[in-house]
Amino acid sequence: MTDFLQFGLGERIEKALTEANYTVPTPIQRQAIPILMKGHDLLGIAQTGTGKTAAFALPSLDYLSQTYKPLKSRAARMLVLAPTRELASQIAESFRTYGKFLRLTITTAFGGVPIGRQVRALQRGVDILVATPGRLIDLVDQNALDLSQVEVFVLDEADQMLDLGFIHALRRIVRILPKKRQSLFFSATMPPAIAELAAQFLTEPQKVEVKPQATTAERVAQHVIHVNASEKQALLTLLLQDLGADMDRGLVFTRTKHGADRVVRHLKGAGIAAEAIHGNKSQPQRERALGLFRSGEIKILVATDIAARGIDVPGVSHVFNFELPNVPEQYVHRIGRTARAGREGIAIALVSDGDERTYLRDIERLIRQKLEPMPLPENFLARAAAIAKPVARTGENSGDQRGFSHGERRDGRRDGGHRGGPGGHRGERSGGGERREGDRDGQRRHFGAPKPKYSAKPAHGGGNSGGRGNPGGGQRRQGR
Ligand code: AMP
Repeated sequence: MTDFLQFGLGERIEKALTEANYTVPTPIQRQAIPILMKGHDLLGIAQTGTGKTAAFALPSLDYLSQTYKPLKSRAARMLVLAPTRELASQIAESFRTYGKFLRLTITTAFGGVPIGRQVRALQRGVDILVATPGRLIDLVDQNALDLSQVEVFVLDEADQMLDLGFIHALRRIVRILPKKRQSLFFSATMPPAIAELAAQFLTEPQKVEVKPQATTAERVAQHVIHVNASEKQALLTLLLQDLGADMDRGLVFTRTKHGADRVVRHLKGAGIAAEAIHGNKSQPQRERALGLFRSGEIKILVATDIAARGIDVPGVSHVFNFELPNVPEQYVHRIGRTARAGREGIAIALVSDGDERTYLRDIERLIRQKLEPMPLPENFLARAAAIAKPVARTGENSGDQRGFSHGERRDGRRDGGHRGGPGGHRGERSGGGERREGDRDGQRRHFGAPKPKYSAKPAHGGGNSGGRGNPGGGQRRQGR
């Protein structure tokens, strides 16, 4: 018996929710599910971690199972668009979890894997298709997908879609979709370009807004450590070493793919198991890395922003911003990887002089709070030097290599020498462009960060915002 009963979702969905240990709806679920059960369009302003996937999946599953019909070849009854393959996989997984007792078919379509299998999966038609826009257009162009039968359409993480340049693909998709449909549009932010896009997709939408960005931010203890760019790698390693068992899982963010690889190399050099996940990795590599992270075999995953979009791994206790993003909203997305579904988490930003100071100011303005300064770990310089030496020795023996590992020298970039190394100068930052991706790492040590509490349950209150009285899912959704 759960608080989800109020929605009249049907026994089979409720059973799946009970199995998944969902007892209390999150705020977006409380607000959105009744609206969607009535068949309205929805504009949802919510970020990941709010439970928005279930908010749109549950009523859709209910609708599709109540109005079961034979599938048309190459057609989908429901289309969910997500910006990245990770997110698309994650969403499909959620549908499978919630719909495990229903006889609905779910498939995914995204780039990076051969299209042939997706074409075959679509041949007999599917109930639910979760796709990224680029691959979706490819499938339409190959005549492998017919969108004329779509009854429910979801556009998830619209702001990310625009960031990734999917605007033209989306405009095209909206023209192909049937006019009569239910549309749901989710975005963490609502700048004018997104509002305009929403207006193209939605008809008289009801608006639901949960957790303005500051709210997730409030649940995460956010720290900043000011450090020379050249010392970030050592700092990350020391943080991780010092945290030790106090950290369940840590996500490290870099700005570029090479930066992510570099951090992983450094960490491995220091004996810390880590994997990178980014756009240059093949799908099997990404899945392997995520699998290791999820199973706890590795405690550190190093990711770029885009690759991280779909990462939904419970129990991420720490987020390390090895480099700050230049788009402040991205910071909120990043720290939203911890503190999911009401849990608390810790975010630590490693900030160097120059541009990153500006980014920090922008972030603090957006979240309307100051990150709490944290001192460098005790004996930082001496310990950093000790880390640097063994790793440096394994590299070439060139005199000017004073960084922490062989990795940096790849693209001509070196740590500018941490203090204590020969000729190190303060204030050197990773330069612009690619070089800025820098390094990062860190593990275990006590630096006084509050230890996260991991309550198994989300911290949302129960709430009874109506929705009762919809037991016969079939008769709702008039006229759409
Ligand atoms: P989302 O914002 O959809 O990415 O969901 C964030 C995380 O919260 C996912 O791991 C979900 O499985 C989890 N979640 C969503 N709703 C609930 C709920 N009502 N109770 C417990 N966990 C939930």
